[in-house]
Amino acid sequence: KRIMSSDLQLEDNEIESNIRPLTLSDYIGQTAIKENIKIFIEAAKQRGEALDHVLLYGPPGLGKTTMAGVIASEMGVKFKVTSGPAIEKPGDIAAILNNLQHGDILFIDEIHRMSRHVEEVLYSAMEDYCIDIVVGKGPAAKSIRLTLPKFTLIGATTRAGMLSSPLRDRFGIIQRLEYYTMQELGCILKRTAAILQTPITEEAALELAKCSRGTPRVANRLLKRVRDIALIKYDNHIDEEVCTKALELLSIDRNGLDDIDRRIIQAIALQFKGGPVGLDTLAAAIGEERDTLEDVYEPYLIQQGYMQRTPRGRMLAPKAYETFELKTL
Ligand code: ATP
Repeated sequence: KRIMSSDLQLEDNEIESNIRPLTLSDYIGQTAIKENIKIFIEAAKQRGEALDHVLLYGPPGLGKTTMAGVIASEMGVKFKVTSGPAIEKPGDIAAILNNLQHGDILFIDEIHRMSRHVEEVLYSAMEDYCIDIVVGKGPAAKSIRLTLPKFTLIGATTRAGMLSSPLRDRFGIIQRLEYYTMQELGCILKRTAAILQTPITEEAALELAKCSRGTPRVANRLLKRVRDIALIKYDNHIDEEVCTKALELLSIDRNGLDDIDRRIIQAIALQFKGGPVGLDTLAAAIGEERDTLEDVYEPYLIQQGYMQRTPRGRMLAPKAYETFELKTL
């Protein structure tokens, strides 16, 4: 299990329910999105209407699910959660939609992973609040139109580009979540530490924030590990010294890079002479899945300027040579 991965891991769920912000005022950062959402929620409430459909996109772990939950609680409506891969057949989505009530929010995570047939059911559901279902088989088959209550669909995706345009066009509100600043992550860490009843100094929170790759999920997970170390090796409080020792133990450097990041950089530098190297070849060289490399590992390396994505493949950027004192080949 990789601490620095922004992907959801099983153990994240244990504390997730306690630390997830429930209101817009608890939700730290993403100021522009919050301001917009606040206005849209207020307007929908004043008109007594369901909120327009919302698409949230951005890298994993930035708080899309959390934002969807916050919207539901601010609207004061029920929140139903599912995900693209979990909806296998058109009948599955029809059953989910048929159980919704006026104003309910249906959250579909990884909405880009829905099959085309399922997606087509959503078109009329989102636009006209109805679905056509076919009853019976062969020549006796009949199509029945089912009217749905006005509901809100919130879709989340890490790959907005993979969404078909008919689906994307049906979202009235489209918001991109950004990586968090160090200060914002520091606030998230202090909030989580308070909920977990672990004292943390301001400096230590910022030190951990620096290594958290702009991602609350990584920050919270890192905090949990450092908290374990603080409990067993120190007197259960986290200060800068405890942080430094814990990060050393976890093999995480000051830039928030871990062993896998270093392996990727070293593979490009040594095996592929600095690149360009194709994604599949690189994935095979480090023994990871292509999608994991593309979605989870490389966005941070690219965003931080260690690596570049070029039409001919991935290349190391000057920062990687400087940081790791690599020779240009
Ligand atoms: P995925 O793409 O994997 O679905 P996500 O973007 O939906 O991820 P969340 O599950 O919403 O991410 O958030 C990850 C963790 O970060 C949660 O534990 C959540 O409590 C915390 N978190 C996210 N955003 C914030 C925030 N703005 N303030 C405080 N905590 C946050």
